[in-house]
Amino acid sequence: MAGSESDSISRRTFLAATAAIPAVSILATVRAGPASDNPSWYSTMRRCGQINVNERDPLNFDAEGWMDYWASLRVNTVLLNGGGILAFYRTEVPYHHRSEFLGSRDLVGDMVTAAKKRGFRVVARMDCNLAYQEALDAHPEWFERERNGSPRRQDECPWLYRTCMFSTYFTEQMPAIYREINKRYAVDGFFTNGWPSTGSLEICYCEACQKLYRETLGGVPPETTDASNPVYRRYYGIYMDRILQVWKLWQSVAQEKSEESVYVGNLDGGIDTVKSLRKLSDAAAWFNADHQGRSGSTPIWNCAQQGRVAQSVMNGRTITNVTGAYATGHPLWRHNSKSPAETRMWLAQTVASGMVPWFHWLGGSPEDKRWRDTGHKFYGWLAANEPHFRNRRSIADLAVLYPQSTIAFYHRRAGREDAALGVNSADYLQGLYYALLEGRFLFDFVHQENLSASTLSRYRALLVPNGAYLRDGECEAIRQYVRSGGSLLATFETSRYSEWGDARQDLGLADVLGVSMSGEVVGPHSNSYMRIEQRNKVNAGFEGTDILPGPEYRLPVRQRGQSPAVLTVVPSYPSFPPEMVYPRTPHTAEPAACFREAGSSRVAYFAGDVDRTFWLSGNTDLGLLLHNTIRWLRGENAPPVTVTGDGLVETFAWETEAGYALHLLNYTNPNAMRGPFRRFYSIGTQRVAFHAAKPVQSVRALRSGHPLKFHQDGQRVTFAVPAVEDYELISLV
Ligand SMILES: [Zn+2]
Repeated sequence: MAGSESDSISRRTFLAATAAIPAVSILATVRAGPASDNPSWYSTMRRCGQINVNERDPLNFDAEGWMDYWASLRVNTVLLNGGGILAFYRTEVPYHHRSEFLGSRDLVGDMVTAAKKRGFRVVARMDCNLAYQEALDAHPEWFERERNGSPRRQDECPWLYRTCMFSTYFTEQMPAIYREINKRYAVDGFFTNGWPSTGSLEICYCEACQKLYRETLGGVPPETTDASNPVYRRYYGIYMDRILQVWKLWQSVAQEKSEESVYVGNLDGGIDTVKSLRKLSDAAAWFNADHQGRSGSTPIWNCAQQGRVAQSVMNGRTITNVTGAYATGHPLWRHNSKSPAETRMWLAQTVASGMVPWFHWLGGSPEDKRWRDTGHKFYGWLAANEPHFRNRRSIADLAVLYPQSTIAFYHRRAGREDAALGVNSADYLQGLYYALLEGRFLFDFVHQENLSASTLSRYRALLVPNGAYLRDGECEAIRQYVRSGGSLLATFETSRYSEWGDARQDLGLADVLGVSMSGEVVGPHSNSYMRIEQRNKVNAGFEGTDILPGPEYRLPVRQRGQSPAVLTVVPSYPSFPPEMVYPRTPHTAEPAACFREAGSSRVAYFAGDVDRTFWLSGNTDLGLLLHNTIRWLRGENAPPVTVTGDGLVETFAWETEAGYALHLLNYTNPNAMRGPFRRFYSIGTQRVAFHAAKPVQSVRALRSGHPLKFHQDGQRVTFAVPAVEDYELISLV
């Protein structure tokens, strides 16, 4: 789940698999990342903790005790409640509601004093989304309205009303509260719970919004995401502009006290995002992913994916990810601990993917304290090995396109039948991702809006999982990349539409892929096949069969050149009853896949949704076909790192301040696809070959704490990791 701590849990649909560079000028005062001569304090922090207090906590909150706990975790930064819905101090801002249990206590003062005594940076955790009746009475214009004009209430706490982002609550009331807190307390920044998020846009029926819709948009936007609607497209632009306007205002208010101060918005969503990550990243000095845990059949790698998505837009700047220490999921328990194994793997994915962990508990008087030890042990280990988490760059040489427009809009088009069939726009990426993990490939995400010669030049291949919605400029960047010798994998409707879903006459990359469309999408169909016409490296391992499983959907295409297709389409035929199960058209010339070589560039195109079909079915032939294809794309170039051994493992490799770091996450677990992890299942020897441009003096396994014997032959360092229980970090220095 997208684990926002806010009320969004009850408002959002739980998805089976849920889940941030030149449009807007970056704020002059947003500091650069770790490479900068004068780095911001948040670019060097490595560990964060948050105690999220409730209205009753002022009665007996032990500020010294709590800060002792965070000190024992060696955190750099704590997040402590300031205000918004409730003031935890004696505020003088009108309609800023004081906690009923505050009395004469200054809880914010007590917490900040205790934190500063221990040398922590302090971020005031705020909530801009809800306010009380007294504010509604005095400022009815601050609030969102339902279609019938009534104020929009919080589902579980109907005495709270939802504030409207387009109102002065955001541009006057919240800044007044920030200024008061900034004046009274030694805080280093502000964070807003639940806003702006990366999810769908919301529709409000307040007077200001209605006026905006009428006068600027020319109509009321649709209530669900629909990029085919011109009103929606204009609304998307205005909505993103408003987020950026508010974000920059709050950043400037935070900095009125000090240039060092920062405002942090709340982003989340994993791979499933709607709002423009590219625009959000232009405003964000620091990307906080509020992605606290998973639910249902969400795969375990959901947290690592969040890291990759954030990395694809932040370009080395600070990314944090919140880990809920409570039992995230559905149903949800806020006051019981999450399984320690699940918590550990979430924290491990956070740091392996280059994010900073932010460990989070709710309520100042816990009756379940088991989570404390889990955080204490993991953070202690992190602190002891800190230089190995200071990353300079990823050393992966495979790029996976993060196709945000497709994920945001493709299957969310109103009236599309496949939306009703439960097709998820993120399934194409999810399928490719699963294949990459099974094949032990090392890769990065590249956001579609960051496609450029300079971004792509360090990658051997670009993998595009149904990038159906691409701008002309993005198609051109891919074209130039292939011309300059880069390899490309693309599937299904890649480049068929503009970023909003306007269909092109032919695929935008038809010339690059070597195919042209010859009809409309066919499917969904079971029992179709791909016939092997030629034996080569791509279909190695299929010697016992002439046919491979076909995708559920396919785009009919014809080849532009004369070379015969390697795989052709065998159209679907009945799968029931058995008497009728035989191919009506056993052989066609329609390509199921095309493979082209020009110089060092290799291009593979699958006309069907092989990635998504692989995710849905888990079919092993489709997995092998994807592995073979990715290996073929590399040509003779050896990968920068290979890890061979048993188990489902996700790998990250970084050049670090200390040298190199190789992260191995052990997902070999019966609860990989349905959480939470109960325990770990240790995997045996992993043999590693690591290309190190810098000389290596020692190799150590930092989780198990052992030095590893290694062999160095030029720049190739080889060694064996005897076992991986949960997660291993190998340092090469
Ligand atoms: Zn409104």
